[in-house]
Amino acid sequence: MIIALTVGLIAGRSARPMEEEPSKYPADQIAALSQILDVLPDAAALVDASDRVLANSSNCAAMGLIAADRLAPVELRALNREAHRTGETVSRDATICRNGDSMGDWEARLQVSPLESGYSLVLAQDLSEERRLNDVRRDFVANVSHELKTPVGALSLLAEAVQAADQDIAQARHFASRMQLEARRLTDLIADLVELSRVQGDAPLRNSKPVQVQDIINEAVDSMKISAEKRGIQVNVASDANIGSIFGDEAQLVTALRNLVSNAINYSPEGTKVGVGARRAGEQIEITVTDQGPGIPEQDQARIFERFYRVDPARSRETGGTGLGLAIVKHVCANHGGDCTLWSREGEGSTFTLHFPIYLNSQNTENGGE
Ligand code: ADP
Repeated sequence: MIIALTVGLIAGRSARPMEEEPSKYPADQIAALSQILDVLPDAAALVDASDRVLANSSNCAAMGLIAADRLAPVELRALNREAHRTGETVSRDATICRNGDSMGDWEARLQVSPLESGYSLVLAQDLSEERRLNDVRRDFVANVSHELKTPVGALSLLAEAVQAADQDIAQARHFASRMQLEARRLTDLIADLVELSRVQGDAPLRNSKPVQVQDIINEAVDSMKISAEKRGIQVNVASDANIGSIFGDEAQLVTALRNLVSNAINYSPEGTKVGVGARRAGEQIEITVTDQGPGIPEQDQARIFERFYRVDPARSRETGGTGLGLAIVKHVCANHGGDCTLWSREGEGSTFTLHFPIYLNSQNTENGGE
């Protein structure tokens, strides 16, 4: 019956325009029609030429589209008139004020399609998420340009300085070594940008397989050995070789852990200790990286996983950080159904913990573990 009513409304066979006989439809059919509109991804309503609502999705009132059984926003009423006059689907973007105003305005893409029955189908798509993503993208491009400008600018100045110091070999060597440093910064930044775009890809992980946690830890710690030695930092690993496996992309998992170990080494005072450990917690494996560094102020803790966010930009430049390390960690975790948490206290140090679902195959479930 509902299907018949819906088809009738669209094709104009059984339904009549609302202004003729608005109460013609039984309440239960209208309620069921509203339920159908509720399933649509956008806020939706069926209205007549004089903006009276026959049926609507349940979010219409809260979103400020309907008040006292009529279309509320002026823009939407104008669009409805235009659709009825022209007989064509019309659409427009508009800012809609929510009812009660507690949640502020929202950006909508409004579309009104006239139906043969004399009603029109009103759809309102929330553009907030699309706009937010556009803003994020724009900010990201601006940030990348800014980050690239710094080493490129430095390289250009240093090249001039080398030219000017052609009679002074010691000076020329000094500037050349600074050029190397800036070139390395640029290479690191590009490498991290490539890595970030790789781990951000929506495609399911292509190279997934069971990966031994101990192998991830060994690889990440080994790759940071030289940096740790240079700073006189002792990296202690405490984890059981049989801790178990994670199902995922080994390269990504190693990159995430390496970024944490690298930060622990780079932000800690020389001669301190860094600990890397792993343990099982129920259905999860937790890998922790602990340092005796400066800690991260509480007000910055929620933001350090954002791209290019640094607690102390000058310090980060000193350590050669790209500002992307933790953003990469966050994405790797999300790709593996896990997350990364942080405990930190200023003056005491920080502990970053990676949480991943443990990989249980039939053999180790039977044995109660690997
Ligand atoms: P960066 O390349 O600058 O290190 P990250 O994304 O890896 O970028 O880290 C973001 C910021 O978080 C760093 O700039 C630093 O201020 C802070 N941070 C990260 N790890 C630590 C740590 N172990 N100790 C203190 N501060 C840290």
